[in-house]
This record gives sequence, C-alpha cells and structure tokens, in this order.
Amino acid sequence: MLDFDVISPKTSHELFEVISNSQDKNYRFGAGYTDLINDLNNNLQQNLTVINLAKLNDNNFKAININENGVQIGALVTATQLLENNIIQNNYPVLWEATNSVASGQIRASATIGGNVCQASPSGDMSCALVALKAVCEIIDSKGNIREENISDFFRGVKKTSLKKNEILRSIFVPINISKNIKSGYIKVGTRNSMEIAIASIAYHFQKDEQNNVIDAGYAIGAVAPTIVFTKDACDFILGKNINSLNETDVKQFANLIKKYAKPISDIRASAWYREEVLINLSETILK
Ligand SMILES: Cc1cc2nc3c(=O)[nH]c(=O)nc-3n(C[C@H](O)[C@H](O)[C@H](O)COP(=O)(O)OP(=O)(O)OC[C@H]3O[C@@H](n4cnc5c(N)ncnc54)[C@H](O)[C@@H]3O)c2cc1C
Repeated sequence: MLDFDVISPKTSHELFEVISNSQDKNYRFGAGYTDLINDLNNNLQQNLTVINLAKLNDNNFKAININENGVQIGALVTATQLLENNIIQNNYPVLWEATNSVASGQIRASATIGGNVCQASPSGDMSCALVALKAVCEIIDSKGNIREENISDFFRGVKKTSLKKNEILRSIFVPINISKNIKSGYIKVGTRNSMEIAIASIAYHFQKDEQNNVIDAGYAIGAVAPTIVFTKDACDFILGKNINSLNETDVKQFANLIKKYAKPISDIRASAWYREEVLINLSETILK
C-alpha cells in the first residue's frame, strides 16, 4: 500500500525552504500525480515525502506568458489549459496536437507539462513537441538560482533528467513566436486509438519564407530511443529547400537521416523493426 508524508508549500519561498530542509530525505515532487502514483505503485518506497506542487500559488509555475521572443509555459500548466489556449493552438500546432493526443480528458485535466518533461519518458507526447520546438527548461534551485538548459540536454536517459536533488523545473520557454507560413504537427502511432502510449511519434515544426523555402526546422522523434531525439542532421538537410516541391530522393534522404537517430527496442507493444518502419513511413509522409 502507498504510504508517504505530504508537504504542500503555497509560495515559492515555502517551496525552497521545504526543498532545503529535505536534502537528507527521500522525497519526490508531485504535480498532477498521473505518473508519480504509477511509479510509486511499481516501486514501493519507505519513508517517502512527497512535496506537493498542486497548492503552489506562483505564476512563474502556473501561467502561460507570451512575449515578442516566444512563450513561457509554467511547469504546472495542465494539458487541458494548454489546449484551451488559442495562442498555443494557432502558433504552435505541434504542441497543441501532441497535448491533445495525451490519454483522455480526465488525465489531461491533471497532467502537467512539467510532469511530462520531468518524467523523461521516451514516449512523452508534450515533451516530443517541445524538443521539436527547441524549448529551453528553466530550472531553479532551493537558493533561488536559475539555470537554463536546452530540453534535448535536459533528457539524460529513460526517466533520467539533469535535475539535481535541490532543483525543480519552474517553466519551459519556447523561443519561437512566428505563426505565419509554418508546417507544424504531431503524429503518434499506437496500438489502439485512445489512451495509448506512442510506439513511435514524430513532432515537426518548419518555418518557411514566402517562397516556401525552409528557414528554420525542428523535427523530433519519440519512443524509438532511450530519450526523445532532435534529429539535427535531418533538420540541417531540409534547411533552404522548398518544402512543397521536394523530389523523391530528397524525401528518402531526409528519412534516412532520421533513421540513424533511432535505437528502438522490442517490447510488449511493438518490435524494434516495426517501430523503425513506422518512423521512416511517417517521416516520408509528412514531406509528400
Ligand atoms: C492512463 C494514463 C495514460 C497516459 N497517457 C499518456 C499519453 O498518451 N501521453 C503521454 O505523454 N503521457 C501519458 N501518460 C503519462 C502522464 O499523464 C504524463 O506524463 C503527465 O504529463 C505527467 O504529469 P503529472 O503532472 O501528472 O506529473 P506527476 O505524476 O506529478 O510527476 C511526474 C514526474 O515528474 C516529477 N515532477 C513533476 N513536476 C515537476 C517539476 N516541476 N519539477 C521537477 N520534477 C517534477 C515528479 O516527481 C515525477 O517524478 C499517461 C498516464 C496515465 C496514468
């Protein structure tokens, strides 16, 4: 049976104090609890304290702020809140579609974007979109020091991040603010239509000029490697090309460049071979 103490700080000041005082304890943060409860059920722990973030009243953690450089999304923003935001829907379709593909309405009402990122699952949907958008994690420690890290570097392995024990993810910054002339979306393949964790997913966000030449490219792949991967070589390859009139060789070359980032495993949901085939097909499809 699950058994843990819960501490619920209401301000950042209280939060930092709790984190400082807990350095010699076994503790976890809890936001929407949709992953945490599963994890704790699978790995029962003794003397656990959960620092509950749900009562925290700090807009740095809770708000979506748009400025001329991009959008800052608090770690405690839920999937539902993201979906209800018109600016997310219009400017960042890749993030909106990825968020819309998470589980069910009931889970989305609790699931936070910060929880999705900190869970560091290779199949995290919102995380995959954020990698394509070259998002930056804003991390704060118990003394109030802030550091920023590209989300691709933040992920260190399955369920592993760069967070140190006295650090917490405060927000995520998406450094893109142009919504005109983009090709942006998310495709997730699962074994069922709903409530499905991806067996392969792709997130893409291409910015085009007036001639439809790609001037900025973001392409990430999920569920086919220990972490979500930004496919840099494929992005570099597509830069400067007219995305509406690629020839067959270009499309194949693009997909081949993506393939080299995939290190899929076989598990109960799909074989490694199938995951790679799906990945290649999806990568070709979006360019045709
Ligand atoms: C039935 C079901 C279906 C699901 N389907 C999907 C799906 O389709 N796609 C998908 O991507 N996910 C899915 N999930 C997983 C989950 O809902 C998401 O990953 C969710 O976004 C996690 O957010 P949370 O707020 O619930 O995180 P929590 O469970 O509260 O936390 C997750 C982890 O992150 C840590 N954490 C949370 N916030 C912070 C923070 N600010 N700083 C540092 N660490 C933090 C916690 O300590 C914990 O280790 C599913 C889960 C369930 C139960």
